Parts: sequence; C-alpha cells; structure tokens
Amino acid sequence: MYKKISIFDFDNTLLFSPLPEFGRMKIKEEKNKNITDFEFWEDKDSLNDEIFDIKLNKNIFDDYIIEKNNKDTLLVLLTSRKDTLKKDIIYLLNKFNIKLDVYLFKKQGKQKSDRINELLNLYNNIEEIEIWDDRDIEIERYNIWKKTLESNNKKIKIKINKV
Ligand SMILES: [Mg+2]
Repeated sequence: MYKKISIFDFDNTLLFSPLPEFGRMKIKEEKNKNITDFEFWEDKDSLNDEIFDIKLNKNIFDDYIIEKNNKDTLLVLLTSRKDTLKKDIIYLLNKFNIKLDVYLFKKQGKQKSDRINELLNLYNNIEEIEIWDDRDIEIERYNIWKKTLESNNKKIKIKINKV
C-alpha cells in the first residue's frame, strides 16, 4: 500500500530539454521546419536527441533515487506535454535510467492538480505528497491546491519543491 506519492515534472525538472526560442531555431536549421512556440511543445523534434543535447538534471535525479528507494512511494511523472509524445518522453527517461510507476500527460481542460486528485481517488492510504516542478505558474497553482486539500484532508502532508 503506497503511503507517499512523489510527483516529478518532465521539462527542465528531470531533464533539461530545449526551450522554444532556441529549439525552434535549431529545428529550422536541422529540418528546415517552421513551427510556432505552441507547436514546439507538441512536436516530436523538440525531444529529438539527435538534434538536442538533452541532459539529466543531476540534483533532481538524486531526489528521484531517494524516492525510488522508498518502497511505500508511488513515483509519478506529471507533464503538460501531450500523450502523443509518450514514447519520446519515456525513451529519454529510460536513457538516464529513470522509470516511474505512473506517467500522466496533458488532459484536456485539466490542471496538474486535478490529475493528482484523480490519483488520490485510486490510492486511499496516502499520507504524503511531494512535488518537483520548475515553473512559477505551476508552483502558484500547486500552492492554492495544497491549501484546499490540506484543509479538507488533515491526513495528507504536501511538500512542493521549486526546481
Ligand atoms: Mg517543467
């Protein structure tokens, strides 16, 4: 029975993936393909390790190892990328020996916290949730969600790590 859920973001949390400005320029150079910022995040080439040198974030990898060694912990990847990129994301994570128990991708009209609430419906014995994410907007949303959840459910402690 899992007691803790540890939730890792993908882009610039577990791995250092390219940002749109640089990434689009590079994709234009290598593939002669023009894409917008918005399209960039949905394009397989944004995760193409023949175009980009995508590196491991060693600090977060160390945290991941600690969580992985705890048998009571459910390891979750929670990303705003679409599941059309699932293979590409899992390939990159596997390359660095990162394996999670659950992979959650963008779901229409849902926030990341909605996805966690869905998980909490499946696992009843959770006492702790820990989150790693690099984006300020996500941290803000998580903080609002944390207040609500902790006041409704005294059993659960939530820790949010800004990467
Ligand atoms: Mg990120």
